[in-house]
Amino acid sequence: MDRQKEFVLRTLEERDIRFVRLWFTDVLGYLKSVAIAPAELEGAFEEGIGFDGSAIEGFSRVSEADTVAKPDASTFQVLPWSSSKGHQHSARMFCDIAMPDGSPSWADSRHVLRRQLNKASDLGFSCYVHPEIEFFLLENGPIDGTPPKPADSGGYFDQAVHDSAPNFRRHAIDALESMGISVEFSHHEAAPGQQEIDLRYADALSMADNVMTFRYVVKEVAIAEGVRATFMPKPFSDQAGSAMHTHMSLFEGDTNAFHNPDDPMQLSETGKAFIAGILEHANEISAVTNQWVNSYKRLIHGGEAPTAASWGPSNRSALVRVPMYTPNKASSRRVEIRSPDSACNPYLTFAVLLAAGLRGIEKGYALPPEAEDDVWALTSAERRAMGYRELPGNLDGALREMEKSELVAEALGEHVFDFFLRNKRREWEEYRSHVTPFELKTYLGL
Ligand code: GLU
Ligand code: MG
Ligand code: MG
Repeated sequence: MDRQKEFVLRTLEERDIRFVRLWFTDVLGYLKSVAIAPAELEGAFEEGIGFDGSAIEGFSRVSEADTVAKPDASTFQVLPWSSSKGHQHSARMFCDIAMPDGSPSWADSRHVLRRQLNKASDLGFSCYVHPEIEFFLLENGPIDGTPPKPADSGGYFDQAVHDSAPNFRRHAIDALESMGISVEFSHHEAAPGQQEIDLRYADALSMADNVMTFRYVVKEVAIAEGVRATFMPKPFSDQAGSAMHTHMSLFEGDTNAFHNPDDPMQLSETGKAFIAGILEHANEISAVTNQWVNSYKRLIHGGEAPTAASWGPSNRSALVRVPMYTPNKASSRRVEIRSPDSACNPYLTFAVLLAAGLRGIEKGYALPPEAEDDVWALTSAERRAMGYRELPGNLDGALREMEKSELVAEALGEHVFDFFLRNKRREWEEYRSHVTPFELKTYLGL
């Protein structure tokens, strides 16, 4: 048995762990968990834990239901809370999903990302990611269609002393750091109740695991403080939505492949081609980075969210930004992609972003001129004249773009690609036939 597994088994005993939660993620980005007794773990390391894959969104067809979860010992962490009875803790490990014959499951999001990372590695690159995760804290209330109430009245960077937000952020960060997830910044965001926590960079697979853990921890801490956390992309019509700005860089060994000290932006040709790839394929990957009907209510003019495939240094209205905070630091030269929202599947999102960027590098795409103007202030006609392509305006438009995409089909694999399109078509059709409060208010007088 390897050292990591031995470490896990020893820790279970030393810390008197009550349950080990085996975690994985379904195709839509929901966290799944099966708890096992510590005594079962040795067997789970050897053979995995079987479960009914046909009951999980996007997993096997019924005839191939016997799916196996194999814990990845390198992801072992003790959860920061003790159980209500006694003071025993639980631990968690992420799993890779396998078919009964041991081959990786094509439905496993982790596997989709791993495949893309292997592709990067064949080209000589490793990929680092850091996300800025925005979300809302809400007063507790029913989830029944009534508008939510923000838990505080703060604004951008406010240090409000009277409400729960600063305490909440401190508790959430303590919990995250106890699980090995380093936090770089945190602050109140622009809208009432809106928070942002930025994670310190990590390799893309660990970061996708971290994002899943982050959502779980933030929701748990919110419950403990008597509020609700939501990663819904746009809970309030008249406030900004919640982005998951994704900073990416590629390294060749210890060298940041995006850095060139002689360029005015310190950005290398590789970095420029990566951005060009993201811009070229922005519309095809949109259904993955922004996967819900509600995601497209965020991507509108105003609210600092992108609406067109444009880029610029320090440009907050653009889809891709080249942050200029520490331009001379080679290791921190990176690109920031501003479209993903906080309710995406992080594995699939990182996979399609990487696929698009790598395509730009492989095919040597040229970077179009930077967006100097405030893209939000332009009319659609002006944008077209300047060569900006609009991002899809709703899920239907995004799905139409994805359906035609060879790049996304290859990145997700045929199974996830087909399942995703079928599932999301259904979501759109259900929404489309629904008469909304907006329509009743606007049209009932007709
Ligand atoms: N909340 C904004 C969005 O939905 C982003 C704000 C920011 O620039 O941090 O994209
Ligand atoms: Mg922000
Ligand atoms: Mg940002």
